[in-house]
Amino acid sequence: MTSYWAERAWLGRRAERVHIEIEGERIAAIAEGVDPPAGAEQLPGLVLPGLANAHSHAFHRALRAVAEGGEGDFWSWRDRMYEIAGRLDPDSYHRLARAVYAEMALAGVTVVGEFHYLHHATGGARYQNPNAMGEALLAAARDAGLRITLLDCCYLRGGFDRPLEGVQLRFGDGDADGWALRTEGLRDDAGSRIGAAIHSVRALDDDSMTQVAAVARERDLPLHMHLLERREELPARPLERAAEAGVLDRLTTLVHATHLADFAPVVETGTGVCVCRTTERFLGDGTIATLPAELRLSFGSDSHAVVDLFEEARALELDERTRTGTRGTYGPDRLLDAATSGGYDALGWDGGRLEPGSLADFVAVDLGGVRTSAPHAPEAAIAVFAATAADVTDVVVGGRRVVRDRRHQDVEDVGRALREAIAAL
Ligand SMILES: [Zn+2]
Repeated sequence: MTSYWAERAWLGRRAERVHIEIEGERIAAIAEGVDPPAGAEQLPGLVLPGLANAHSHAFHRALRAVAEGGEGDFWSWRDRMYEIAGRLDPDSYHRLARAVYAEMALAGVTVVGEFHYLHHATGGARYQNPNAMGEALLAAARDAGLRITLLDCCYLRGGFDRPLEGVQLRFGDGDADGWALRTEGLRDDAGSRIGAAIHSVRALDDDSMTQVAAVARERDLPLHMHLLERREELPARPLERAAEAGVLDRLTTLVHATHLADFAPVVETGTGVCVCRTTERFLGDGTIATLPAELRLSFGSDSHAVVDLFEEARALELDERTRTGTRGTYGPDRLLDAATSGGYDALGWDGGRLEPGSLADFVAVDLGGVRTSAPHAPEAAIAVFAATAADVTDVVVGGRRVVRDRRHQDVEDVGRALREAIAAL
């Protein structure tokens, strides 16, 4: 039996001298206050549940720091993003995504939700395997050692009254039936799960939203949807339309509820919200209102301007302080829960908790480094308000060590893998 021993761990509270026993890929037992048993692998620092990156577009990583130094907004950034989208094929997308997911693994991410809409070849031509791009992403996550939920996205039009054009033709399945038929060919396995996504109210009419939501429910899939990233989208009443189309429920996560004023329908239906503050501020999307305490919350690094789930978590609270002039709306425990179990829940996985029965996914954070040396601080506060992705030393997924002492075990040089994959585009 595999087992790990940690000097300190966060079990939703402080725990010391913790022994974690694993059976298969789940935690079988946890004991506190024990010496390291013979054969147990020791983890340094502070052990936390694995971090969940609930909203990713892997190929946006190719744009990091590229679109800086000039004026513009979301829409001008989107033009650059479309240029990259126009160049990818299943091989180059696999190479890029494997490197991006390896970067995530080094940052302590143990499960990613990939919001995937780049389905087809140039001009919308079908690949021989119509899921070649999605399967490239599934393989990339497997190769990088982390779990994935492939949120396969229905994308039907270029704007409220515009057909798909240019690179957008690669996103479209014709109609919701076409999307449902194609996605029937995708299968779950031990490390991957298939989910569904509605791109936005811009990209789908109401009937198609209803159809996608019904298919997601019939197949018991997590369903994600970009809700309200831009103020310009407010007149389209996206939340009302999502509600009328039957999108809101316990399996649904709304990404970017940035300009939403009333969260009552979201809370009442048990719908979750995924906040991506680093991308939202990077794109100049604006601030988010105070989120209700009962809201199911998760985080995503979205465009990967930054891949750091600690930064995503603290950004919510720090942006709230800037906006309201008050401190402590979101405590470290709630933020760390959202970055771990909240994300697992949004992606349809039973994990993100250090407790028996949960998936054996966890990370170790260095407590001896310059940023994290804070001996009087509580564990969750060190993680959320002191640590960065660079302080993650070890990552375990399903009981297997994917990162050891800051080195990825399967991708030898992640920086080089990123440089080569991006340079080749
Ligand atoms: Zn997105």
